Amino acid sequence: MLSHWINGRGIPEPGEALEIVDPATEAVVELLPRGSADLADAAVEAAAKAGPAWAALSPAERRNLLLPAVEKLVALRQDVAALITREMGKPLSQALAEVGTATDVARQFCDLAVHLRSGSQMAALGELNFQQRVPRGVCACILPWNFPAVVAMENVVPNLLVGNTVVWKPSEKSPLSARFLAEHVFGHLPPGVLNLALGDGANMGERLISHSDVDLIVFIGSERTGRHIAEVAARSFKKVILELGGKDPLIVDETVDIGRAARLAAEATFYNAGQICTSTERLFIARQVFEPFVDELVRASRALRIGNGMEDGVDIGPLVDRRQLDIVSAQVTHATEAGARVLSGGERHGNRGFFYPATVLVDVPHDASVVVEETFGPVAPCIPFDDFGEALALANGSRYGLAAIVCTASAPRALKALHTLDAGMIRINTMRGKAAGGTSEPFGSSGMGHGYGLEFLMELTRQKSIFWRGEPR
Ligand code: NAD
Repeated sequence: MLSHWINGRGIPEPGEALEIVDPATEAVVELLPRGSADLADAAVEAAAKAGPAWAALSPAERRNLLLPAVEKLVALRQDVAALITREMGKPLSQALAEVGTATDVARQFCDLAVHLRSGSQMAALGELNFQQRVPRGVCACILPWNFPAVVAMENVVPNLLVGNTVVWKPSEKSPLSARFLAEHVFGHLPPGVLNLALGDGANMGERLISHSDVDLIVFIGSERTGRHIAEVAARSFKKVILELGGKDPLIVDETVDIGRAARLAAEATFYNAGQICTSTERLFIARQVFEPFVDELVRASRALRIGNGMEDGVDIGPLVDRRQLDIVSAQVTHATEAGARVLSGGERHGNRGFFYPATVLVDVPHDASVVVEETFGPVAPCIPFDDFGEALALANGSRYGLAAIVCTASAPRALKALHTLDAGMIRINTMRGKAAGGTSEPFGSSGMGHGYGLEFLMELTRQKSIFWRGEPR
C-alpha cells in the first residue's frame, strides 16, 4: 500500500484501502490509504511547522532549492511517464510529452518567482511608503488526475517558490506518479515544506479544506467539487483559487483550409481521450463547409489507434475509470435518442478496459447533455452555423468559459471573436499555445482567480502596505 509523504518521510496509514485500477486492463495495481483525519492533521502540522523557516529564505534561495527538482524530473521522466500511463491510461508518448511540459512549467516558475515585485509610492523626506509581498502560509493543493505531473508543477512549485508550504492532495486516481514525485523529485527539500497527503475527496479532501491551519486552497478539478470547496472555505475566509471544468467551443469558418482545420479539431477533441480541461467539446462549423469538414474529421478520428497506452503507436488510451466511461456513454446515448447521428465511434470499445473511441456526432440537439455538460471524453458534436455572429453567440451559450478556438483566415473575424468570446484563453488557428509566463482567468463556472504566470504568484501571496517615518510623529 502507498504511504503518505509527510515531514520528509513515508508514513503508512493502517486501515481500509482504496484500489488503484489500471484503466486499460482493470487490474488492481496498488492500494491507497483513504486519508484519515489524523494523517491530514499530521500533514498540515508538518507544513505549518516548516513554514517560518521556509518563508524566511529569499526567493533566490528557494529557487535554488527547487531547480534540482526540475533536473531530477528530467532524469526520471521515463519512470514518471510510465506511472502516469499505468494509473490514468494515457499513451506513453503523451505521458512523456506531459512530463516535458511539466518540466518547462517548473522552470518557467523558477525564472518568474525571483521577479515578483511590489510597488512603492512617492513620499516626503524621511518617509517611505511601499508594499511588500509575503507568503500566505500553508496551501492545500487539491489536484486532478488528467495531467498529474503538469498540475503538480503548475501549482505545487509556484507555492513553494513564493514561500508557502504545501499539503498536496493528488487525485485518488493518480497517486502513483504523485507519490514518486514527492519522494524522488522533491525529497531533498527541508522536511515539512512539501507533504503529500493521499486519499479520496470525502476523507482527506474534506479534512484539508476545513482545517483551521490551512490558509489557502488551490483547487483544480470539477465544477461540482470546486463549488463545494468555495462554500466551505468561505466559512473561514480562506483564500481559494479554482480552475474548473469547461465546455470549450471550436469555431471553423469557410475561409480556412478545411483539411487542416479538421486535423486541428481532431487533436483538440481527441488528445488524451478528450480528458483535458481545455478539450474542444462543441464544434461550430460554417454551413458551406460543414460536410467536407465532417468528412475529414471522421477520417481523422478513424485513423486514431485505440489501445493500451503502454503499447507503441497508440493514440487513444482508455478513459480514466468506469464512471467516466459511463458518463461519456450516457451522453452519447442521450444525444442519439434525441435524434443525433453517429458518424464514427459511438460505443464502448471492447469489454475489458475503459476504452471509448473517437466519436463524431451530427444533427445534435442544442440542449443535448453532450452539448451542455462537460463530457471529458473523445466526443465531437458538430453543429452548423450560417453567420459568424451566430457562431459566437452559440459559443457563448454555455455556463463555462475556460477556453475557445477559432479557425479563420479573416483578421476582422478573429478580432471580433477575441472581443466577444467569454473565455479565459482564446486560440486562433491553433489548439496549443500559452506563452511562458502568460496568465488567464476563467469565466463563469470554469473557476476564479488567475492560473499561471506572475499574476498566479501574486494570488499565492499577500500584499502588505508599509508606511515608515524616520521619527515618531
Ligand atoms: P474532481 O473534482 O472529482 O476531483 C479533483 C480533486 O478534488 C481530487 O483530488 C479529489 O479527490 C478532490 N475532491 C473531491 N471531492 C472533494 C471534497 N469534497 N473536498 C475536497 N477535495 C475533494 O475532479 P477530477 O475528476 O479529478 O478532474 C477532472 C475535472 O478537472 C474536470 O472537470 C476538468 O475540466 C477539471 N480540470 C480543470 C483544469 C483547469 O486548469 N481548469 C485542469 C485539469 C482538470
